[in-house]
Amino acid sequence: MNPRSTHGTILVTALLAAPIALGQLHAQIAPPQSVFGYKSFDREQSVEEKFLAVPDASLAGEELKTLTAAPHMAATPEDHETAEYVAQKFRAAGLETEIVPYRVLLNWPKAVKVEAWDDSGKQLMSGPSREHVEGDPYDNDPRVVMPFNSSSGSGDVTAEVVYANYGRLEDFNKLEAQHIDLHGKIVICRYGANFRGVKVYLAEQRGAIGVLIYSDPQDDGYYKGDPWPIGPWRPETGVQRGSVQYLFKYSGDPETPGVASTLDLPDSSRVSPNGNQPHIISIPISYHDAAPILQALKGPGAPQGWQGALPFRYHLGPGGVRVHLVSDQDYERRIIWDVIGKVKGADYPDDWVVVGNHRDAWVYGAVDPNSGTASMLEAVHGVGALLRKGWHPKRTIVFCSWDAEEEGLIGSTEWVEQHMAQLNNAVAYFNVDVAVAGPDFSAAAVPSLKQFVRELTRQVPSPASGSVYQQWRLEHPESEEHRASDAPPIDEGEVHVGDLGSGSDFTPFLQHAGVPSTDIGSEGPYGVYHSAFDDYAWFTENADPHFEYLQEMARVLGLEAVRMANTDVLPYDYVAYAHAISAYIESVKKKAGGNGLNSLDFAPAEAAVARLATAAQHAHDLQTAATGDLDGLNRTLRSVETALLSDEGLPNRPWYKHTIYAPGEYTGYAAVVIPGVSEAVEAKNAPLAAQQLQVLTQALDHAAQVLESAK
Ligand SMILES: [Zn+2]
Repeated sequence: MNPRSTHGTILVTALLAAPIALGQLHAQIAPPQSVFGYKSFDREQSVEEKFLAVPDASLAGEELKTLTAAPHMAATPEDHETAEYVAQKFRAAGLETEIVPYRVLLNWPKAVKVEAWDDSGKQLMSGPSREHVEGDPYDNDPRVVMPFNSSSGSGDVTAEVVYANYGRLEDFNKLEAQHIDLHGKIVICRYGANFRGVKVYLAEQRGAIGVLIYSDPQDDGYYKGDPWPIGPWRPETGVQRGSVQYLFKYSGDPETPGVASTLDLPDSSRVSPNGNQPHIISIPISYHDAAPILQALKGPGAPQGWQGALPFRYHLGPGGVRVHLVSDQDYERRIIWDVIGKVKGADYPDDWVVVGNHRDAWVYGAVDPNSGTASMLEAVHGVGALLRKGWHPKRTIVFCSWDAEEEGLIGSTEWVEQHMAQLNNAVAYFNVDVAVAGPDFSAAAVPSLKQFVRELTRQVPSPASGSVYQQWRLEHPESEEHRASDAPPIDEGEVHVGDLGSGSDFTPFLQHAGVPSTDIGSEGPYGVYHSAFDDYAWFTENADPHFEYLQEMARVLGLEAVRMANTDVLPYDYVAYAHAISAYIESVKKKAGGNGLNSLDFAPAEAAVARLATAAQHAHDLQTAATGDLDGLNRTLRSVETALLSDEGLPNRPWYKHTIYAPGEYTGYAAVVIPGVSEAVEAKNAPLAAQQLQVLTQALDHAAQVLESAK
């Protein structure tokens, strides 16, 4: 999964130039005068040049083709084959490699059925229809799993239907305002605007007994452009599979929150999976199957903004149509396989730089996730070349190929839970999921690493000309298109780097373990997300015919690791972090006023963040000077992110420990900033907001105290 790829993306006309040779790279890109975190950059400059010369476009293309040769859903034999393939590539590059299994609860579909009748008893449809278009060379493989929702309940229900638009909180509130009761009903809603698990969560809370989630052509089909195989958008039978896990409660194996589900974990240590699983059934369908249901639906006409692109007037229901749903899910504890490859650090072997991408796919997964895997393998190829020349990073680099991300970030979460103590020393986690869906680079990060990402993209050539950074700026002059949070803009004049919500494997690292994280991708028109059509043919036709963006992403991802592993002083920008938090507090304070919570006292939190800003400036001076006890300074700098965790976690979701970032309970993908306070203010719960302000103030004071001790 990947949050940034599921929204409508901006169409960018790329100037597809020939792949850039490294000689040209030198001509176009001047070496940096100095780099934050390095006393002198000369030596590192030559290491980075050697690294950048290695990732290879055509090899990345071959790797992508191999990885996507067969459907490879988590825990299948084909998934295991991809684990072996990645392990072999890691070993060939000289990484100390192991395949790490976990035993986790997964559901596979035994039977899924959707039928509908009109009031006269005439059958309108019987599905789900098989995904198929004339001209796709892959979609007839019998191993393509039938569309289903991971974490769905099992059941057999028949009921009237209500249309809930995107299934957002405001959509359900609107239905309630119109006195449309959802008890005993089946909700039909469209994909987009939030995480699909949130749609099911809200429907379940309101008494619905089943949910159908379909892809409206307005959001990623013919309304956007030509559907596959003519263009990149979703064809009539295309379905978005996906997890409906209540990810905003906790990610990972539903039976082991906070505990690693290693093979030897006794069953007595597993808990009920109810903590992050829906109790009702939900089924994803195509607009081919949704259209007859929506067209027959009676009741009030769809309000402003609810009409999709199907060629008839939408109505809310109920009435006009009855639907029968069957979801028979085979829940079993199954084995999944992470692949972990290490390069031991020469100076600080216990300080890890972790790089990760998931490998499992709903079907072929050319874009999601194996464009990321191919990029990571070429980054590993580059690191391997450095190792053969006798290079040793100062810190340990750990490359991770996660399994079962699609079902709920499971492989990464279990690994994080197993290594909590060691991860206190991990200096960064660099994620890539959808590496390449098109030419449009984007990034999200904790504020302390936003400048780090911008800075290094200046050194990587873009296939379109100039550097990745230059293209990124060119495409985002206003820089607000990809904002994932409701926070006000704070980095004026700079290209926008988003905030980390959820929807990919950085979640356990940042929000559970407090490891500073980034997430990168290169986007484009992409309408086949989580369908059988996200295959090698679609990729070479639409995303990256010459694999030069795979090469670009390999370079960016690898450079993140190489540069971070060798810094003299950890290049965290806490001045920017304090600035960001201060803006978040002001924004929530304003909202509290608007919500009638005027008596809330924000002064202590404001004082704490001001203290943090002062301490950050003090630390920044030390970081720039880079003299004296750098080991001690680095330890102090690293502890700041951990200080922003609270032991008790967020209200009703203790697994989420970060006081500044969490996936929103009602958004799922998008970040909610200072979530404890924000969500209490949103809910107009004054006592809870006051208590959460205290928790935030404590965390900020703690972080400031840590930074003040820097010397
Ligand atoms: Zn993904």
